[in-house]
Amino acid sequence: MSMAKLNHKDAPADPRGTGERLLAWYDRHHRSLPWRMPPARIAAGDRPDPYRVWLSEIMLQQTTVQAVKPYFETFTSRWPSVRALAGAPGDDIMKAWAGLGYYSRARNLKKCAEAVVERFGGEFPSDFGLLKSLPGIGDYTAAAISAIAYNRPVAVVDGNVERVATRLRTIATPLPAAKPQIRAFVQSILPAARPGDFAQATMDLGATICTPKRPACALCPVNGDCLAFLGDDPERFPFKAPKAEKPKRLGAAFVAQRRDGAILLRKRPETGLLGSMSEPPTSGWTARQDGEPGLDAAPFPADWQPAGVVGHVFTHFELRLSVYRARVDRAAPEGCWWSTAADIHSEALPTVMKKAIEAAIPGATLKPTPNRQQRRN
Ligand code: SF4
Repeated sequence: MSMAKLNHKDAPADPRGTGERLLAWYDRHHRSLPWRMPPARIAAGDRPDPYRVWLSEIMLQQTTVQAVKPYFETFTSRWPSVRALAGAPGDDIMKAWAGLGYYSRARNLKKCAEAVVERFGGEFPSDFGLLKSLPGIGDYTAAAISAIAYNRPVAVVDGNVERVATRLRTIATPLPAAKPQIRAFVQSILPAARPGDFAQATMDLGATICTPKRPACALCPVNGDCLAFLGDDPERFPFKAPKAEKPKRLGAAFVAQRRDGAILLRKRPETGLLGSMSEPPTSGWTARQDGEPGLDAAPFPADWQPAGVVGHVFTHFELRLSVYRARVDRAAPEGCWWSTAADIHSEALPTVMKKAIEAAIPGATLKPTPNRQQRRN
């Protein structure tokens, strides 16, 4: 593809028409999602519940729709309003979130719910700036709540929308530098009357038709407006800056099991990675380390036996945890507790810690996490 073609300057003949065509397609083909209000109800004057919009958008960050569905159902049935969530014990929220990853989101969930109750009387604000002042709400989530829940004319740009926009407009600037250009383009085709539906229509197009590989351009409602489709190979978009290799960190996890099968757990510090989540005792691993940690990092003397190595990829680094196991018959050390076979699946165990326990105790009584195979990270 030549740069002349990549830098194509011809706007679609009718940029507003692109948005309208997308909406007409969305009216017929929108995905049915538990947190979504269908366009017919919006047209009839109903408005989505900002609480459900906010909760779903927080859950969907870095996570697939399929993975989020059961968590969303659990949260909204246990805590049907932002007031109910604000009043819930933090540990219960962390337990209900366990397995969904990116745990700072769960910690901010309660802080945000409390702030909405204290500062805004239990009603999410509609203003982009006020939304951004709430814990855990950044540019994207503020835009999504403002547009979807309140129908404000704000461009909502997630990964799907970035792909659609860079293809429609053949934006050859690599991401993330292309973000302002993408936002400006999306804003330029946004139909003023239906910003919320338009945001969801663009997301749906990216998720179902304008996919990263082999987009179904023949079925696309805006293929007549799409410079990438008309000009060349859409799969080349979006351009991305090369990723730096993730640093590697090393650590050890010590899985102690009592005679009755109970497993020794403790709670991680409130702040920092996986804050407030449960784990078997581990060595430090949130800082860069040299060399494989060994038995000298064990929490107490026992007949520790190597049980393999588990890996996990976090946003900013890759972790390699050497796992040790031991049969132990003693009281739980201070700050730890014995979690019985009946309790272990309701503990707030992040995926990496479940991996460590399963490496140490094959067939441990952990319920399968529904999203384990589906999470993106
Ligand atoms: Fe995406 Fe193809 Fe539609 Fe262009 S025509 S927006 S590349 S699906």
